[in-house]
Amino acid sequence: MEQAEIGLIGLGVMGANLSLNIAEKGNKIAVFNRTTEVTKKFYADAGALQGQIIPCETMEDFIKAIRPPRPIIIMIKAGDPVDQQMELLKPYLSSGDIMIDAGNANFRDTMRRFKSLEGSDLTFIGMGVSGGEEGARHGPSIMVGGTEDSWKRVEKVLTSISAKFNGEPCVDWLGENGAGHFVKTIHNGIEYADMQMIAEIYGILRDGLGMSAAEIGGVFGRWNEGRLDSYLMEISEKVLKANDPISGKPMVDVIVDSAGQKGTGKWSVIEAQNMGVAATAIEAAVAGRVLSSLKSERQAAEKILGKPALVERPKDGMAFLADLELALLAAKIGAYAQGFAVMAAASKEFGWNLPMPTIAKIWRAGCIIRSQFLDEITSAFSKDPNVANLIVTPAFSQLVKETDGALRRIVSYAALNGLPAPALTSALSYFDAYRRGRGTANLIQAQRDFFGAHGFDRLDGVDKHHGPWGSGLADFA
Ligand code: NDP
Repeated sequence: MEQAEIGLIGLGVMGANLSLNIAEKGNKIAVFNRTTEVTKKFYADAGALQGQIIPCETMEDFIKAIRPPRPIIIMIKAGDPVDQQMELLKPYLSSGDIMIDAGNANFRDTMRRFKSLEGSDLTFIGMGVSGGEEGARHGPSIMVGGTEDSWKRVEKVLTSISAKFNGEPCVDWLGENGAGHFVKTIHNGIEYADMQMIAEIYGILRDGLGMSAAEIGGVFGRWNEGRLDSYLMEISEKVLKANDPISGKPMVDVIVDSAGQKGTGKWSVIEAQNMGVAATAIEAAVAGRVLSSLKSERQAAEKILGKPALVERPKDGMAFLADLELALLAAKIGAYAQGFAVMAAASKEFGWNLPMPTIAKIWRAGCIIRSQFLDEITSAFSKDPNVANLIVTPAFSQLVKETDGALRRIVSYAALNGLPAPALTSALSYFDAYRRGRGTANLIQAQRDFFGAHGFDRLDGVDKHHGPWGSGLADFA
């Protein structure tokens, strides 16, 4: 029997679809799943692609079915299961085999796994895959971390299965060890912010303007034809226009307003904090999900505190909608600027040399945050890959100037009417703080010096670092 060129373990939602994608692109693949029934069903359902797939029920058969040196994708539940699976796999592997963890791993786990294989003749790749079920089946965005040499060995097959934007593959090698999983984590952090901001705008339209789900879907549909053109806008229109077959009501109106999360948003925020980068819009989005999950507490609080009354209606509905569209664009710029700033800091900290234009490029199609907007980011970073912040590039500084007025008006409207808009508000505050040459931390430095003698620098450069607050500050003369 002809051996497979690649293997895949884990035929859940992502693994099954990725396997079919790999097979469809003309690559022979061996598959294995912990629960054998799943493998059998997967193969039975594979239809015309069966000829490209070797279903395996034991680890021995799986290993024999792949041509050495073997690239093996592990697409299972992230965390301990990956360590367990690697330990089960290792005794069967031979020199040069590559284990590719394609799940949503914490990049710190990925770095640990790289370290654990140091000195062995086995290779590891930590690979972020985005695009959900549909992306896995027809073309995901793939973020690869590992040695450049290991990337070269899987480049052909990964390129064949990745999404394409204007013919360019949405996959690339981003750096050593944890680079791929780190970038995937920040992708998800930005995704959280993108989704939260769309939801906040939905809230303003629903609770501020009293619009129906279908009407809001119509607005999003129009925006999707303009600069906000993106997958998330597209699916938001679709879900808002869908009706529940059971109640006949708009689907979104029967869904509980309590959002789940698996960890990548939280990790983005933790890593931003670890690296001293302000990622306030992403933080607000994660906190938004946390607050959303406190459904019964929120209901109790509404009874005690009451819901703020609407005090103002927009005078000109069309102008208000135009402002909302620009506000969402402005806030989105803030979230992306923060995500890229976190990656720039991590790149320095871990010595990855993350290629910013390439990251924007491989997010243009296949992944959940795919959009036209990412093409503009690609172009901005291509012109200046080492710029301190996306919002000071010529193209985006211009865009911020064109849109931040609208964001300010929308945030003010939301605040006056008690409509929660934490991510939009955070993005606005971020712009305002980032572009203010003289901020207010001079007072914080004075306070710190007052209670803790922490010292401060003076604007005039004079070599005196304590204030005249008390007798214990000997440095002040
Ligand atoms: P599913 O829940 O659909 O499938 C989980 C798979 O993991 C099954 O094949 C299961 O095997 C296997 N598994 C669980 N525990 C173990 C274990 N201890 N040892 C071996 N195998 C195990 O998950 P998904 O396909 O959705 O997700 C897989 C990975 O991809 C996760 O890391 C996820 O975060 C990531 N991901 C998911 C996306 C999505 O949209 N769903 C998008 C991008 C990444 P069994 O059948 O035996 O239970």
